[in-house]
Amino acid sequence: MKITFPATENFQLAKRLLQTIERSGEEAYIVGGAVRDTILERQVNDIDIATSATPEKIIQLFAKTLPTGIAHGTVSVYEHDHWFEVTTYREEGPYDDGRHPRYVHFDTNLVGDLSRRDFTINAMAMDQNGELRDPFHGYDDLMARTIRAVGDAKTRFQEDGLRVARAFRFAATHGFTIAESTMVALSSSASFLDKVAAERRLEEWNKFLGALMAPLCDQLPDDIISKWTGWKDFLFSSCCHQISKAEGANDRLALIFLLTKFGAVVKLESMMRTLRYSKKNIDEVQALVQISRTWQVTSPARMTISFGKALSSYGEKLLERAVRLIVIQDASLTLDDELAHAAKWLNEHPVRTLKDLAIQGSDLIRDLSLQGPIIGMALEHLFDLVANGQLPNTYDALLKEANEWIMEAVIDEQVIRNMLQKAPKNLMLYEYKQLSSTNDVAREKMAEAKVPMLAVFTDHQESGRGRQGRAWVSPPGKGLALSVAFRLEADDMNRLQEWPLFAALTVRSALSSIGIEKAMIKWPNDIFIEGKKVCGILTEMRSVGKEVHLVIGIGINVNAELSDFPDDLKSKVTSLKITQMKSISINILTARLIDEFYELLLTYQAKKRFSDQKDEYERYCMTLGQRIHVRQGHNAVTGVATRIDEEGTLWISDDQGSDIPIRSGEIIENSEDRV
Ligand code: ATP
Ligand code: MG
Repeated sequence: MKITFPATENFQLAKRLLQTIERSGEEAYIVGGAVRDTILERQVNDIDIATSATPEKIIQLFAKTLPTGIAHGTVSVYEHDHWFEVTTYREEGPYDDGRHPRYVHFDTNLVGDLSRRDFTINAMAMDQNGELRDPFHGYDDLMARTIRAVGDAKTRFQEDGLRVARAFRFAATHGFTIAESTMVALSSSASFLDKVAAERRLEEWNKFLGALMAPLCDQLPDDIISKWTGWKDFLFSSCCHQISKAEGANDRLALIFLLTKFGAVVKLESMMRTLRYSKKNIDEVQALVQISRTWQVTSPARMTISFGKALSSYGEKLLERAVRLIVIQDASLTLDDELAHAAKWLNEHPVRTLKDLAIQGSDLIRDLSLQGPIIGMALEHLFDLVANGQLPNTYDALLKEANEWIMEAVIDEQVIRNMLQKAPKNLMLYEYKQLSSTNDVAREKMAEAKVPMLAVFTDHQESGRGRQGRAWVSPPGKGLALSVAFRLEADDMNRLQEWPLFAALTVRSALSSIGIEKAMIKWPNDIFIEGKKVCGILTEMRSVGKEVHLVIGIGINVNAELSDFPDDLKSKVTSLKITQMKSISINILTARLIDEFYELLLTYQAKKRFSDQKDEYERYCMTLGQRIHVRQGHNAVTGVATRIDEEGTLWISDDQGSDIPIRSGEIIENSEDRV
């Protein structure tokens, strides 16, 4: 039988190739899909040629060739911007493993070559005049729109399990039915797919899924689809009809994930990965699923950063695609209404990505002196407000909001770590949402970790301990409880008395570094601002073998309001927010404290003594010159604080005129202050 040889450029080039080969005394035919699609009057992109010539001969005959699959007899020939695959007639020996033929032999003719091909419609050859060679009656099957295996179907599927998938792939891409005998063989051939590489299965799956039409659904065995995809217990039949209503392989795949119990996003990613989908495809399907879900659950959805990001990377078309998937799932919706709704919603949310904001990370770095991940967090916070119409997209409004947000940001270990300037970024930091004693935890951590310093903190201390067991009041989220622990040497035990004073000076420096200069020290280690207590410190030291573990616990009223304090304390305590008349960033404060304590450890290790800092301490000490009341065991001493000596001891002059030393381990109160 003769058909019209196509006049298209690629076929005309192929014709010249056939002629060149024939002139050398060999045979050459166009074979496979190109013949099939020519008869179907479909567009042909790849033209495969089968020949009696050896690969070596083909390489000699043509100017530009590539030995693409020389072991299988394939050479690619390049002519005028087109590549042609030229393969020497070959037959395959028995398949022992369902993957590879035991041998390939080239000692055959055209019919032998056609006999190794999968389906009759793919097993036709055409010469340079359009004369058809069709030993397996592929033409008749093509006219009857039938997929039929060449030779014994079961044997052919067993030889190469991929043919099982290809049968359904061709049925889908051509809208053909599978011949009964072939279908019988298929129904018991699912397991042959087990041995086929994922890459080969994916290629066929993608073509299949994109082309599938509803009538085929009733012919598809679930076990074959499950082996094909490698997705265990995948009941494709349960969603096939609905899937066939969507367009494109990725949209259909997204719909599969939306409709089946495989819906979880983590699963989606790992399942697509086992089938060797590319990252790009995984991202796109994931975005489609995510957008459909969000839209479905909260319609109209609040614009979120991930939603906006997905929209920006895939275009607004993605929302439209997602809406189409939703409408397929919900018969009560109409596509036109939903699309109009989505378009309107998009218009109401002009900000899609962080780049659309009127302020950028570099502005926050410059204007708010921020660094590290807090910048990204701040931008995402701004995005949420702007995208949802709660904040105008102007520089000033955004800067103001960012500033307020940073001040109110909850305590966050990552943020603090990134704001460290003096202390190393890998310092051991332990953040707790809620804790009763940061000192206890710090001591436990110090026993476990062999590090010179660590820090434990929370902004919600349930009941901190003050000296002599008194509670430190810290309203949730508004105070900082921070404990730093140092690992010292055995003889440092003798210097216990210095630490409360060092700690007080250190806290004072940290406050000063964030612009709070008014803090004073009440000997030995309370911090006062404007005569009211804002911070208490509890220093605990214990020897552990040859080591000494020092734990300094600091409790600070950061952003508490006056109303947060119990009535009886209102006249005695204050917070940084009250004294500064603005919120203080708990993260920045914590980072500065850790920095200053780290520096204290370094200078202490460099043999610093309290005497080196005595002058500075006296400058900030509010106790000197005050009349105070001290309990020493069962005795009480009242007198005026006169001086602090080199060891940090406070000297008071009592009413009888004698000088009495007070060591820092003792309790000191003045008449009004009993906090
Ligand atoms: P398409 O146009 O969809 O690519 P095609 O028929 O060209 O269809 P290919 O996968 O490109 O399909 O394969 C080219 C030819 O090689 C087929 O027409 C068929 O004759 C043969 N073939 C491909 N894969 C197999 C296989 N697994 N077993 C037997 N023959 C195969
Ligand atoms: Mg092809």
